[in-house]
Amino acid sequence: MFTEPQKERGWIEVICGSMFSGKTEELIRRVKRANIANRQTMIFKPAIDVRYAEHEVVSHDRNSLESIPVEQASDILSLSVGCDVVAIDEAQFFDERIVEICVRLARDKVRVIVAGLDMDFRGNPFGPMPGLLSIAEYVTKVHAICMQCGDIASHTYKKIINEQTVELGERDLYEARCRNCFNEGMSWQRDQMKLPF
Ligand code: ZN
Repeated sequence: MFTEPQKERGWIEVICGSMFSGKTEELIRRVKRANIANRQTMIFKPAIDVRYAEHEVVSHDRNSLESIPVEQASDILSLSVGCDVVAIDEAQFFDERIVEICVRLARDKVRVIVAGLDMDFRGNPFGPMPGLLSIAEYVTKVHAICMQCGDIASHTYKKIINEQTVELGERDLYEARCRNCFNEGMSWQRDQMKLPF
């Protein structure tokens, strides 16, 4: 369990993992604790992610806090003036500038909490996440449970075969899988469709 460092300087925390691994729950937990400590907090998410509610960040278990949808990473800087803690959910959907934005916030003594999918459904690093993982002081990789075998899961498996990297969905479209069950599914899909990935 992550415990907040006691210091007034800025820093960057990243929470990563597959879908259904509890990333957003962990982000919400940290923001709620910062609120208890009377820190000024704001949560941002990419405008693309409107699965549950436009102005809330909502975890799969429906735990929620208010959040602000932004079109691009640079909007976060202008909107978060005066904040002690800036949380960013679904960071994988932002452009690469999100890395630089987080560095600037931390330099301005802001605590930055970033949550995002570290791999896409092909098992490749997702968008700006590798960069964010590199610059963070604290990285927490949370795990889901494999929906096939019950082992620890770190992959997101797409049950419907197509090549869209960004396709918003839930349990209808994705499931968490361990590496082994993920590989079995991908190889089954390759056999079915003769796809190149
Ligand atoms: Zn499995």
